[in-house]
Amino acid sequence: MEAAALGTELTGDLCCARCRYNLRGLSVRGVCPECATPVAATLLRVIDPQAAELQPIAKPGLTATGLALWSAGAVAAVLIVWLFRAAEALDWLQPPLWTPWLLLACMLASAIGGLSMVRPHAGIPRARQISAIGSFLAYVTLAWVTWQIVVNLDGPRGRPYLGGGDWSVRWIYKVAATLLLGMTVLGIQPVFRTLQSRSYLLRTGKLERQTLRAILASIGVILVGDMVQGAVPLIQPSFPELPRLAAMCLTGVGSLLLAIGLVGLAIDVRRLMPVILSAPLGLTDVLSTPRQPTGTESTRPGMTGMPETLS
Ligand SMILES: [Zn+2]
Repeated sequence: MEAAALGTELTGDLCCARCRYNLRGLSVRGVCPECATPVAATLLRVIDPQAAELQPIAKPGLTATGLALWSAGAVAAVLIVWLFRAAEALDWLQPPLWTPWLLLACMLASAIGGLSMVRPHAGIPRARQISAIGSFLAYVTLAWVTWQIVVNLDGPRGRPYLGGGDWSVRWIYKVAATLLLGMTVLGIQPVFRTLQSRSYLLRTGKLERQTLRAILASIGVILVGDMVQGAVPLIQPSFPELPRLAAMCLTGVGSLLLAIGLVGLAIDVRRLMPVILSAPLGLTDVLSTPRQPTGTESTRPGMTGMPETLS
């Protein structure tokens, strides 16, 4: 069908999906002059047909900054916790005395950053907003519990796992921390998915990202490890060290998976940035006159009622 040359020329900036060459001015039926990729292929890949239906982000800069703080703070916090565990195993490694303060700052910054997801745009269901606030409260409590473990129970140069001391109180705090971490992730999940759905690729499943689910699974592994560690001395009081060590390894694997998951989340957030900072690219953004879908009641090219927006 010949659409009477109606809006078949790209009037907006559109970078070739393969080589980033700006295709502005070319026909949608043409090919990229640099790499011969059909313009239509780029359109199919980068244009979001539902761009106009998505709610605009109220404060894009603030939301983007909050998301970046949220994910980067979480990655930094988990790295610091790993630093403590590494310091426990390696004598020469001594984190500076202010490291717990840095950990606390990272966790609080991350929690506050997460608040940017409570209501990033209009139309967020109330239940999701409350859930996101619940995530914030769980996160702040988690920061407090972590502080208790790192500063008051372990102390500087503490060796809770390898030192062989009594750990029953620490264990309770540790389980509380794991549960709070799970609540933090569960609470933020619905609204994060709402934001993720702004990305056409994520929404349509062309790019499968189940990062938060993977993080929840890793928290589950940590929790099982914690539980077994707590149960072993009760079940086998005569020689608990070996099974306890195995359970500790399970917790360690869970923690490693958690760290990997959080890095994956940071990558997800990085991917989301373009659709947070500016509205997703719609067809009307690159073609000044939108083409009517075929089969509608009027396909006449005469567009008397159409506002002329040529500048
Ligand atoms: Zn190209």
